[in-house]
Amino acid sequence: MKILFFSAKPYDKQFFDLYNEDYGFEIEYLETHLGPHIVNTVQDQQAVCVFVNDKVNAEVISILAKKGVKIIALRCAGFNNVDLDAARAHGIRVCRVPEYSPQAVAEHTVAMLLTLNRKTHKAYNRVREQDFSLNGLMGFNLYGKTVGVIGTGKIGGAFCRIMLGFGCKVKAYDLYPNKELESSGVVYTALEDVLVSSDIISLHCPLNEDTHYIINEKTIATMRTGVALINTSRGGLINTADIIEALKSKRVAYLGIDVYEQEEKLFFRDLSGSIIDDDVIQRLISFPNVLITAHQAFFTQEALSEIAQITLKSINDLACGQKPENNSIVLV
Ligand code: NAD
Repeated sequence: MKILFFSAKPYDKQFFDLYNEDYGFEIEYLETHLGPHIVNTVQDQQAVCVFVNDKVNAEVISILAKKGVKIIALRCAGFNNVDLDAARAHGIRVCRVPEYSPQAVAEHTVAMLLTLNRKTHKAYNRVREQDFSLNGLMGFNLYGKTVGVIGTGKIGGAFCRIMLGFGCKVKAYDLYPNKELESSGVVYTALEDVLVSSDIISLHCPLNEDTHYIINEKTIATMRTGVALINTSRGGLINTADIIEALKSKRVAYLGIDVYEQEEKLFFRDLSGSIIDDDVIQRLISFPNVLITAHQAFFTQEALSEIAQITLKSINDLACGQKPENNSIVLV
């Protein structure tokens, strides 16, 4: 079995090469994103392995099918970048890694919240310059605050548990409330109520037609002035132009984003020294109360190890005509 990787980084190679010792697949790693411009590099590989910003649309899938590709393996949880109907129509199997380490993403969400609130990134630089003053570094206690969580699946659930541990009140909105979280103290309520009554809002639902721009001018207008908003899910959940207006009007006092609508042109690359022609991200970067990380919430040793093991096992299972143990691994 030959597998062609797209968007591959040195750390992908490190973990996949390690666990491929059990399988002996012929793996080739390409740094470039998959998209219509590059799909012809696929030669005789039966599987392609892609990541969050690879464009796996109908056009790409039809060419993959002509080249004889049988499996598209996503080495991530989200799958909004793959046209599943097109894959189904061409008989290509699609798998993902639904649960590699929800704690990795949940913990990064907390790190973003704490950084924004307690300004440790600013304190670090200040002390290194021998500036031991505290002006401008004041934060607020998380204890007793209301945290609103939109989407309480694996990651949102892990985040709820951490925030309950901080002594926060946790309100949540999900299409399918989780009884276990409810009995731990999470209060499920309508989306409108979560937005109106939370001091901190964290997004953990998938990006789809219903959730696209779930945070927009109208929903922002219902939030408390001074709210902190964190998004470690997908950039398209937030209307970026609207959030910039909300930062300017100070309704949103803190914004932490690990994901960004136009991230595929920027994230996972070192562009230092380059001219960035995305004025929107430049505006976001200019706010002192905005923290941006470049889609790194998943990036722990434990998560990468799980991702490599599950992806290779799924490819092997599908190639052998076996059903992977966990149903949610196979999308098509
Ligand atoms: P999950 O499927 O376990 O949970 C998603 C939850 O959202 C489910 O409980 C579902 O019922 C709920 N949901 C679906 N539609 C909704 C809607 N319209 N309104 C409210 N809730 C809705 O997924 P997960 O593993 O917790 O991952 C959540 C998201 O996190 C993924 O979709 C992915 O986009 C993102 N993610 C980001 C990173 C990162 O590194 N930043 C890593 C992994 C996943």
